[in-house]
Amino acid sequence: MSNDTGAIARQRHYTSLRNADREVLRGTWSIGYGDPGFTTQFGTPPEPSEHHSATSIRKIITDALWLHRGACLACPWEGPDRRRRDAAIEDAHDHTHPEWRSLPIMDRASGRGARMWWQHVRARYPQGWFDAGGPLRLYAEPPFDRHEAGAAPGGGFILHTTRRKSKPSSAIQLALE
Ligand SMILES: [Zn+2]
Repeated sequence: MSNDTGAIARQRHYTSLRNADREVLRGTWSIGYGDPGFTTQFGTPPEPSEHHSATSIRKIITDALWLHRGACLACPWEGPDRRRRDAAIEDAHDHTHPEWRSLPIMDRASGRGARMWWQHVRARYPQGWFDAGGPLRLYAEPPFDRHEAGAAPGGGFILHTTRRKSKPSSAIQLALE
């Protein structure tokens, strides 16, 4: 049993459990599927990052109960237990990019005008933000509703926010016009 925390230490321990039972593997913290640093049980664990980098770890208590934590690829930090992976990813960004919650939430680019859109996004985000692996915030448009690892321009996450429903009063207003 390893008590070392952080995504790298967890994944090292997980990939060392060569002949463990399935139940033991399920109950061992490991990097979430598709999140930065993910490998299978037989993979090579990732090398530590130079900069604090967001990812998630998870363990399976029962089929219906998975626990997720935000984690970092550079240090031993871990977030609290969460039932949803996206909440854990957000915790991780509170650690790696504490100002992310104050950044503007953008609409996803439509096919035409993608270059203009990108200039607009860049102008509204801090200089050098994406080059440093910072996340991009977008309004969730199905099927894109799960935070997407590696999808921001510099390889950071796209973090989705559900658009607030328009207020009933304005809907009534429209109906009256
Ligand atoms: Zn860190």
